[in-house]
Amino acid sequence: MDPWREYEGKRIHDPLFLKEYHQTSDNLYMSVPSTATSSRPKRCITVPGPIVVGAGPSGLAVAACLKEKGIPSIILERSDCIASLWQHKTYDRLSLHLPKKFCELPLMPFPFDFPPYPSKKQFVLYLEAYAKQFGINPLFNRSVSSAEYDKTVGLWRVHTIGPKNEEVEYTCRWLIVATGENAEIVTPEIEGLTGFSGPVVHTSMYKSGQYFEGKRVLVIGSGNSGMEVCLDLCNHNGHPHIVVRDTVHILPREMLGQSTFGLSMWLLKWFPVRWVDRFLLLISWFMLGNTARYGLKRPNIGPLELKSVTGKTPVLDVGTLSRIKSGDIKVVKPSVSKFDGKRVEFVDGQSEEFDAVVLATGYKSNVPLWLKETEMFSETDGLPRKPFPNGWKGEMGLYAVGFTRRGLMGASMDATRIAQDIEILWKRAEPYQYN
Ligand SMILES: Cc1cc2nc3c(=O)[nH]c(=O)nc-3n(C[C@H](O)[C@H](O)[C@H](O)COP(=O)(O)OP(=O)(O)OC[C@H]3O[C@@H](n4cnc5c(N)ncnc54)[C@H](O)[C@@H]3O)c2cc1C
Repeated sequence: MDPWREYEGKRIHDPLFLKEYHQTSDNLYMSVPSTATSSRPKRCITVPGPIVVGAGPSGLAVAACLKEKGIPSIILERSDCIASLWQHKTYDRLSLHLPKKFCELPLMPFPFDFPPYPSKKQFVLYLEAYAKQFGINPLFNRSVSSAEYDKTVGLWRVHTIGPKNEEVEYTCRWLIVATGENAEIVTPEIEGLTGFSGPVVHTSMYKSGQYFEGKRVLVIGSGNSGMEVCLDLCNHNGHPHIVVRDTVHILPREMLGQSTFGLSMWLLKWFPVRWVDRFLLLISWFMLGNTARYGLKRPNIGPLELKSVTGKTPVLDVGTLSRIKSGDIKVVKPSVSKFDGKRVEFVDGQSEEFDAVVLATGYKSNVPLWLKETEMFSETDGLPRKPFPNGWKGEMGLYAVGFTRRGLMGASMDATRIAQDIEILWKRAEPYQYN
């Protein structure tokens, strides 16, 4: 017999289980005294439905899709709020990079009166309304330190650490990883960086250019965040210099009266990716000119092909390029080789002084740090090994939402599929849970 069913069957006759089960909110989980030894957590909680790790947009989306199918889940979130990336780690001027219709979560559109590119404040309001609509109440301040499948009982054991270092073990049949592609910051290892005599901030800590007025700021990294931070610095009378080490595709955010993203999606329905890339590059050339003239050389392959091969997102220009053309933002081509006090040395031997450094060097997944499983997730980058669209499902009830490198649209697709998959198993297991 399936060990989970056997376990559930026994448990449902257990008076302790029934008492605790009915006492807890929404009957979502039960609390049992731990049989643990001193090296194991003090409390052990068994969850009948899935556990979702992470209360970002992906975690909320999958919890809502499950709820709609009558499946209760719990979300464990290390931070103190939903969408902590958006609430705590983004700059003030941030708006969605893509139009709202490509960023809405399943089952609930954005309010009609929101602009085409909602601000981060509006996006957070939408997510809060979303959580309320589906009665999603994540358990905050629960950082998942490890999760491991226990073959003996056929359950996942999920360990959390609370704010006062209290340890709790949750067990569940289905584990949904929703910790995101941006869970931990990436910082470059450059000689002398820690000894730089001005402020060094990662974009996750950067809020506004107002703190850098009149300052010479070196921005390292030329993705969407690096480019936008430069624009923000200019708008606050700072003097940004951006290091563009690699080639980069810059596209206008809108072309021919449409969002570039929406137009690309539509064209891809009819034409192969290389044709669409050629079209995008032609229009971009007419609208933006030859970006290589300003130190922004394009890669050899087109923007959409590059995205699907490497995951590298093209920069959607929101005004940075015109400030580069006007000289307000300086492009510094070579990589940095060394920091020495305020002096920054570049690999071509030149050096300049700066007042501050902004690291727009991105993020990475933290899954390998806590998930004791290596078949589904790669230990190298913490992303599912199977390419899109097949990375959402692993073995033994393990799922992934939001690791498609396709933003919120990819997360919504994952969430819908996961809920459909679990629904089948949940219905099969139901008589054992409630009889
Ligand atoms: C600046 C910026 C702008 C973006 N703009 C867009 C856009 O316009 N459109 C679009 O489609 N995409 C955009 N993206 C990409 C992506 O859609 C967002 O990053 C989105 O927030 C991803 O949602 P998520 O829930 O997968 O991950 P996150 O939002 O990162 O949420 C993951 C959650 O998991 C929690 N967590 C992590 N580790 C643990 C742990 N061990 N235990 C418990 N909890 C944990 C985190 O605290 C976090 O709350 C943007 C990304 C960035 C950085």
